[in-house]
Amino acid sequence: MELSKISGLGFVGLGAMGLPMAGHLAAKLPENVHIFVFDINQASVDQLHQEHPQRITKCSGAKEVADKSEIILTMLPEGKHVRSVYMEGGSDTICSSDISGKLLIDCSTIDTASSLAVKDYIKEKFPTASFYDAPVSGGVVGAQKATIAIFLGCDGNDKNLPHLVQLLQLMGKEVIPCGGPSKGLAAKLSNNYLSGIIAIAVSEAMDMGMRSGLDPRVLHKVYGAGTAQNTICDRFCPVPGVYADAPSSKGYTNGFKVQLMRKDFGLALDMAKRVGAKNVLGEAGYATYDGASEDPRCRDLDSRVVYRYLGGNEDWQKDADEATASKLD
Ligand code: NAD
Repeated sequence: MELSKISGLGFVGLGAMGLPMAGHLAAKLPENVHIFVFDINQASVDQLHQEHPQRITKCSGAKEVADKSEIILTMLPEGKHVRSVYMEGGSDTICSSDISGKLLIDCSTIDTASSLAVKDYIKEKFPTASFYDAPVSGGVVGAQKATIAIFLGCDGNDKNLPHLVQLLQLMGKEVIPCGGPSKGLAAKLSNNYLSGIIAIAVSEAMDMGMRSGLDPRVLHKVYGAGTAQNTICDRFCPVPGVYADAPSSKGYTNGFKVQLMRKDFGLALDMAKRVGAKNVLGEAGYATYDGASEDPRCRDLDSRVVYRYLGGNEDWQKDADEATASKLD
């Protein structure tokens, strides 16, 4: 389905991620394509419409979006919302429209079982429609800058792949076909499991090193030069004041919320259980993100705030300065 040949594209779910993603489509799609949008939060629909009044049409529900569009994207919080918007929400769902021959792309991070349930339902009711999972990574800033990575649940030989890549690249930098249905989600969940575990490990390693008298900037260099090198430590260091651009150095703001990490970590563990994969670190990792999500000192902050949750010293610079001053006295 070539972008230059369609006349309507739909977008359901204009939240922290969906709003800037839809904004990029409104700014970059060929002029012939009109965008039909819906969100239960009217304020975000109005905002997008105000930003692109010629391009955007506000719809009354998911069915109207699907009626008017040849390609429909969704960006919703959890599996239950995706099930509801596609098939379980009564008479106002995407599947209550005739979506034969249409392309449906779900960018939400949800459980693989819900995604496959939606895909199977669509395949049975509308055999000529195509549904893909396409979760994203890179956060709200990445969505605003169109630098997100997109993990596409699609086979490398799928006839729709070139068109999907062309469309998704309007919102992100890299589109990686992961091999087939629900595999984009499986890739995203295993990625977030790994990055969540690494953040806890970096926090613990830094804490034990600092308590042994090491400067965290020295530890940062040591890990970077040694076998422990990893992106979380390099660019998202959980210890404040080590890497200036890390969320920790800005009060753990502008990052990936700890509650979202808890959600993705839990989904990853469910997936692991379902496929029979053993995790010795899973339970401890989940308990850490669960505890941090409920801790008022950590809630709503970047997930690397686990360093704070685990009792790491954030005032190390001040303590070091005071120690130096007292030696000079
Ligand atoms: P959000 O809560 O900000 O946005 C979700 C939007 O969906 C909201 O505007 C909400 O009103 C809308 N919605 C919910 N139910 C609906 C319904 N029945 N019909 C229409 N609209 C409905 O969430 P977000 O941060 O944009 O995240 C969306 C997805 O992307 C999640 O699965 C999340 O895990 C994933 N994600 C988020 C980030 C991030 O940093 N925020 C990064 C990568 C992936």
